[in-house]
Amino acid sequence: MAQNGEAAADVVARLRRAHERGTTRPLAWRLGQLQALEQLLLEEGHRFEEALRADLGKAPPESQVTEIGVLLQELRHTRRSLRSWLLPRPAPVPAQLQPAAAWTVLEPLGVALVIAPWNYPLLLALSPAIGALAAGDALVVKPSEIAPATSGLLAELLPRALDARLVAVVEGGPAETTELLAERFDTIFYTGSGRVGRIVLAAAATHLTPVTLELGGKSPAWVDPSADLDVAADRLAWGKFVNAGQTCVAPDYVLATPRVAADLVPRLDRALRRLYGDDPLQNPDYGRIVDERHFARLSALLDDGRIAVGGATDPATLKIAPTVLTGVDGDAPVMREEIFGPILPIVEVPDEAAALRFVTERDKPLAAYVFSRDAGVRRRWAERTSSGAIGYDAPVLHLAVPGIPFGGVGASGSGAYHGRRSLLAFSHEKAVFAKPGRPETLGLIAPPYTAARERVIRRLLR
Ligand code: NAD
Repeated sequence: MAQNGEAAADVVARLRRAHERGTTRPLAWRLGQLQALEQLLLEEGHRFEEALRADLGKAPPESQVTEIGVLLQELRHTRRSLRSWLLPRPAPVPAQLQPAAAWTVLEPLGVALVIAPWNYPLLLALSPAIGALAAGDALVVKPSEIAPATSGLLAELLPRALDARLVAVVEGGPAETTELLAERFDTIFYTGSGRVGRIVLAAAATHLTPVTLELGGKSPAWVDPSADLDVAADRLAWGKFVNAGQTCVAPDYVLATPRVAADLVPRLDRALRRLYGDDPLQNPDYGRIVDERHFARLSALLDDGRIAVGGATDPATLKIAPTVLTGVDGDAPVMREEIFGPILPIVEVPDEAAALRFVTERDKPLAAYVFSRDAGVRRRWAERTSSGAIGYDAPVLHLAVPGIPFGGVGASGSGAYHGRRSLLAFSHEKAVFAKPGRPETLGLIAPPYTAARERVIRRLLR
């Protein structure tokens, strides 16, 4: 049910009627909505920080760095560029069709559905919403029920700040999402697990609705013998343990030779002490696990290797200290599924070739990270592995660059967004072709196919 108790079918029907009036077509409406969203984040930022603290124990500066700040950047980038992104794009016309002109225009798809997960519950609800508003779509946002404070706040504030005729928030879990998915949308943007991604895709198939899937997976980090290990340890410690490891592009595990692994562990230990002190469970800068189910799941994974760093847990606060596991078997449970928590296994391999094999034998991840000072190593990983993105010497940060696409490949998703790609994800790129009435050149390629005409055709099409 939406906030006012409306059924899913009524929400979608209401939005569709409003969208058909053409309100969202003008650039002014779109820019106005984006500006209103920016203002909302600036004015109510402290309430979102409180909600994120309640849902995930996030420190307010972390919420600024990883959610609110990323959204503000994305909003400014989009507002600055939208006018030029929406200009018709001319395309060259082949000789046999001349004289003529061809171009593309972007048109709104209609009513979009955004389904968000709980781990960055604000960012991952609103970042796709920026694309939908820029594209001139009507929009239903379905935040995650597992982050109830953020979900409630979005339901309260979004329809108030934005054009409520065209933007709705529907709260709820699987039952409410199933109800929504029975409706016909013009596009669905889903972020979350592959398991639910399959459900979304199957439901969309009924209506031939296109879907963007932003999924997860096990993103590897190869720490090459040529790497600057101090830099690698500092950045892995941040990228893995920010948001208590509940980050889709977090380095899931490290691959390293035994020698590199031995040198890396004490550096990770030092880096983690610098970030979270000697008792991370008591540190307010360090987040918690989202719920008891995930806490139990993660606690069980602590047995899958030797605890080299961390290992402490507190069921009362749902905190698990940043933990590094060594001596991990490639087939252990911790290596079978995305960890999505503060446990970093180090899997030892004899050399780079074995590491490459380890990665390519598994599902294509959302990101691959390579720590190396050797250009040849970097090139080999780019060429021989497939992943949504590749990061050299820096995990996670690529997601904050609006000019490069963010998305997966294979099991980690399909379609991408951020910056202009968000606009494209929520638009139809319509092809336009126009031919002047004179001179008439159709005679050159149409019957009757006399010998002379055939010669012309063959020459034209060479
Ligand atoms: P999830 O799939 O359990 O939930 C995501 C959304 O789906 C929620 O809104 C939830 O209400 C809804 N949902 C859950 N069960 C449903 C059902 N049976 N039918 C219909 N809807 C249902 O995912 P999650 O646990 O919230 O997120 C974790 C996963 O998401 C991880 O794999 C992570 O890597 C991935 N993720 C990916 C990205 C990305 O940008 N690619 C970002 C964050 C998380």
